[in-house]
Amino acid sequence: MADEISKAQTACPSGDTIFGKIIRKEMPANIIYEQDDQCIAFYDAAPQAPTHFLVVPKKAISQLSEVEPTDDALLGHLMIVGKKCSADLGLARGYWLVINEGPDGGQSVYHLHLHVLAGRQLGWPPG
Ligand code: AMP
Repeated sequence: MADEISKAQTACPSGDTIFGKIIRKEMPANIIYEQDDQCIAFYDAAPQAPTHFLVVPKKAISQLSEVEPTDDALLGHLMIVGKKCSADLGLARGYWLVINEGPDGGQSVYHLHLHVLAGRQLGWPPG
């Protein structure tokens, strides 16, 4: 079983996460976007594609299934920022935007985040 999947099988919501620490600058990250009061973007520490970064809301929402209808603008904003960063990085050939939800969805960090993957041909259907 791939490492990320085995992590996801045992991960669960537990309050503060590594992403909360990155947002509060208590842990380092390779940040690519932060001029925003709603979200931050930084490179994934274990990239699954030549370019792989995460767009993370500053609001501590554990996972997609916990978002409220009032979070609709925030969810849209994450996609807009993913698109903007992709354009800034010159990812003209395309990319994936992915949200992993729960154990079967491969979620290992319980702070909502949008993956942006690019730089190679991405296979469909995904694993
Ligand atoms: P998910 O499996 O969808 O919850 O995604 C969590 C992602 O966070 C994985 O792709 C990890 O490689 C990534 N990750 C974990 N810790 C860090 C970190 N300190 N900095 C950047 N990315 C991280």
